[in-house]
Amino acid sequence: MARKFTGGTLVIASHNAGKVREIHDLLAPFGADAISAGDLHLAEPVEDGDSFTANARIKALAAAKAANLPALADDSGLCVHALNNEPGVYSARWAGENKDFTVAMRRIEDALNVKSAQNRSAHFVCALCLAWPDGHTECFEGQVFGAMTWPPRGDRGFGYDPTFVPDGHDITFAEMAPEQKHRMSHRAAAFNLLVAACFKGD
Ligand code: IMP
Repeated sequence: MARKFTGGTLVIASHNAGKVREIHDLLAPFGADAISAGDLHLAEPVEDGDSFTANARIKALAAAKAANLPALADDSGLCVHALNNEPGVYSARWAGENKDFTVAMRRIEDALNVKSAQNRSAHFVCALCLAWPDGHTECFEGQVFGAMTWPPRGDRGFGYDPTFVPDGHDITFAEMAPEQKHRMSHRAAAFNLLVAACFKGD
């Protein structure tokens, strides 16, 4: 049985204001009073894990111990199957110092072309970890499967969205209304698992 969050203050182990707001809104109905690691001036740990869950756990544990409060962290990225699941945990880094995702999307397309890859399938992953100051963690992973397309299409969303077409659809994540993406995304899948295990019931 997963350990439950029993209410009170929850640290969101992210310095990204948009992410903190989104998580705050999602968890408010469950008695979670969210505060960000940035507001608490907590240092950001080195994310040197070799999986999304490992990185989310590093961030959640560092924040839980530093704040002496339960903490929630996420980590996410894109895995392209013909590229041995790259960029994977390096998804943000493939955009370079300028965080330019036109560069990152082009890099994926070039790598697929170099391999003459017929298989353009890929999936996004989101890992969420809830950690307590005593070192206990509960972690969940959500995924959404689809295919890489070229050229990029759409101006909504962020990151790799303009080149990802989810299975069963013919438009990219960047062409979808945000609510449509949010219903089917890897982040929604991970949140549903987290809420069901740690925020609902007795
Ligand atoms: P992080 O989880 O904030 O470290 O983000 C990892 C990177 O994965 C982001 O910078 C994006 O490039 C990519 N990524 C994660 N989720 C999505 C998504 O829903 N759409 C597009 N790109 C994403």
